[in-house]
Amino acid sequence: MVSGRTFIQNPGPTNIPDRVLRAMARPAIDFGTTEFSVLLDSCLMRLNNHMRNSGPLIGYTSTGHGAWEATVTNLFDTGARVLLCDSGHFSHRWGEMCEAHGLDVTWFETGWQQGVDSDALRDVLATDAGRRVEGVLVAHTETSTGVTSDLAAIRTVLDDLEHPALLVVDSIASFGCTPLEVDALGVDACLAVSQKGLMMPIGLAFTGISDRAVAAAYANKRGRFYWDWRRRLEAEGYRMFCGTPPIHHLFGLDEALCMIAEEGGIDAVTNRHRRLADAVRAAVEVWSEAGALKFNATKAKERSDSVTCVRLAENYDADKVVAVARQRFNLSMGSGIGPLAGSAFRIGHLGDLNVPMLLGALGAVEASLRACRVPIGTGGLEVATTMLSEVSS
Ligand SMILES: *Cc1c(COP(=O)(O)O)cnc(C)c1O
Repeated sequence: MVSGRTFIQNPGPTNIPDRVLRAMARPAIDFGTTEFSVLLDSCLMRLNNHMRNSGPLIGYTSTGHGAWEATVTNLFDTGARVLLCDSGHFSHRWGEMCEAHGLDVTWFETGWQQGVDSDALRDVLATDAGRRVEGVLVAHTETSTGVTSDLAAIRTVLDDLEHPALLVVDSIASFGCTPLEVDALGVDACLAVSQKGLMMPIGLAFTGISDRAVAAAYANKRGRFYWDWRRRLEAEGYRMFCGTPPIHHLFGLDEALCMIAEEGGIDAVTNRHRRLADAVRAAVEVWSEAGALKFNATKAKERSDSVTCVRLAENYDADKVVAVARQRFNLSMGSGIGPLAGSAFRIGHLGDLNVPMLLGALGAVEASLRACRVPIGTGGLEVATTMLSEVSS
């Protein structure tokens, strides 16, 4: 279909509001000016407040992969042992990156349908009598599986064992969507990017860090340059990006942060994500009653507020559903990744999204499933509509 908007329901990149696009459509400014340093400082401060972090926030011109690499190379020297919670494609890749940097990775498997099991984690860390594990790395929301892990439970395990490992959290898919309080949870490094909950183009990444993480970075002798936090912490604001700063992305970020403030702050934004995700889950629940599809995340409380991963029964082709959605209904979704390729699709519901957009998307998913003759009963969209009509906003 040529007419109308294309719906972007990928779990990243997400919809970029017109206001953000317009804020970026202007000439560059001189990054040596007060105007620029005020803009940068104000963006970093507001973002860090949203993370509830009292330590520094480091920004990079990069993707999430860059924030991964920056965090790993600053916190850990070659040979350092880390425990990598492998909960899906993205966390697995992060672990591979750790190995490429010479870390000694203990792979903690969660299976691709669950988050980190804190009892199992406790058993593994309890055997680390010499306290050799220097970091526990976890993806808050694993985008490939639609699973969100309970960070408070992980913190409790570390505290109970009095284990000093740094807690390093990939909140790339959860930041701005699921509440995450860095200080309160004792998170030492919290990674985020521009193109998911922050409603921006790809190109900015961040790590909010604790004082312990700063100390670890200064103690780490590993050679590094572009990603070096010391260089970025010590430089004047406009040079913290280790090169020409991403001026236009900061124009956009400033506008995105204004939109978050206008909505009522980050808590209002995460509440909206919860409401919309509940509606998606209610629809999937109804569709699943016909037996041809189910949630990938087996535990209801671990289902992500950013993305829902739906698995189809063996005799159905999920890639075909994704293709029909794109070609016939102008709806872009995520396909299954890794072991879920061909058997799952993912509905992204994060970032710039409201009730009619979500209902339109769910309607198009329903139409695509029907077009592919996947039995879904009746009433999925209706239950979502009813639910959203009842919630006061
Ligand atoms: C998207 C994503 C990444 C990778 O981000 P890029 O910007 O594509 O490098 C990493 N982790 C999670 C959880 C993600 O959702």
